[in-house]
Amino acid sequence: MKAPVDIVVTGAAGQISYSLLFRLAAGELLGADQPIVLRLLEITPALPALRGVVMELNDCAYPLLHKIVVTDQPRIAFAGVDYAFLVGAKPRNQGMLRSDLLQQNAEIFAVQGKALNEVANRNVKVLVTGNPANTNALIAIKNAPDLAPDCFAAMTMLDHTRAVSLLAGKCGVSTTDIKNVTVWGNHSCTQYPDLHHARVKGAEALSLVENDWFVNEFIPTVQYRGAEIIKARGQSSAASAANAAIAHMRTIVHGTADGDWVSMAVASDGSYGIAEGLVFSFPVTVAAGRINIVKGLDINDFSLQRLRNNETELQEEREAIRYLL
Ligand code: NDP
Repeated sequence: MKAPVDIVVTGAAGQISYSLLFRLAAGELLGADQPIVLRLLEITPALPALRGVVMELNDCAYPLLHKIVVTDQPRIAFAGVDYAFLVGAKPRNQGMLRSDLLQQNAEIFAVQGKALNEVANRNVKVLVTGNPANTNALIAIKNAPDLAPDCFAAMTMLDHTRAVSLLAGKCGVSTTDIKNVTVWGNHSCTQYPDLHHARVKGAEALSLVENDWFVNEFIPTVQYRGAEIIKARGQSSAASAANAAIAHMRTIVHGTADGDWVSMAVASDGSYGIAEGLVFSFPVTVAAGRINIVKGLDINDFSLQRLRNNETELQEEREAIRYLL
């Protein structure tokens, strides 16, 4: 039997985690022969609820689930971890300003960045899901100076799979026939789901769909999908967010398919003129655990404007929490 691998999930009593933990324990990330230790971080008031989740995990008698660690201390949660799912974040309450949300979450991610820096495996792969995810990831990176910035990413995989599914539905094909869709920028309504390089069974996507559909239906549907789900379900998306978190980490573990890419928000290296260091969603390939931004794509004026809007929004978010960087 292999030695267990440590995986931490924060906000472990929350609704995304409720879908995520059981799939991790079943081996969906690392495979059917890899035992895991689940390290679960919560704020102190949520520990009683988390104990209920732990009872359910134990009741499943998962063969791969070697041990569960439950704590409200980041340094205990992150000790020796190889994979970190940073899901927990303060929700936006009624009347709360966006800047308040930014600052309250920023402090959480500053603490967590420092703790990862001190105790995580040096090759840890960190996925930030808690919102505002891009800026939370930026704060974690800046507070973890001994970890390479490319250990960190923020999640735009759900936006990516939403875009793939929508295009597949429109063209009447399977999602596996769709390649090279990109979601650029911030995981917010400003994000830019882009079909300029996308292919459907090898053909250019934009030659198969009307421009009006692309601009006035596809883009806003992906941008506002989260709000639509809240309206319909009375709660935010959870199972699909957990699915995307696993898909993101599986891509880190197994790499991207030949000729395809996915979307991940990573520290900009200046590609496409995006300010260096901003955590920005790009098209990326992954090989041997390394994330590489796809370079040299043609960007027309329509797309460029949308990339700039995202850059501006992320620069404003960065200004609001600069004292923590
Ligand atoms: P969820 O599990 O539903 O969501 C967790 C975070 O993921 C939120 O910030 C949410 O943003 C975000 N998110 C990102 N992408 C998506 C998406 N596509 N769909 C839905 N959510 C998305 O929140 P809960 O309130 O159920 O649970 C959060 C848990 O975190 C609580 O148990 C709380 O106690 C805990 N917590 C833990 C902390 C820690 O470990 N230090 C710190 C703070 C909270 P959005 O709100 O915008 O939907």
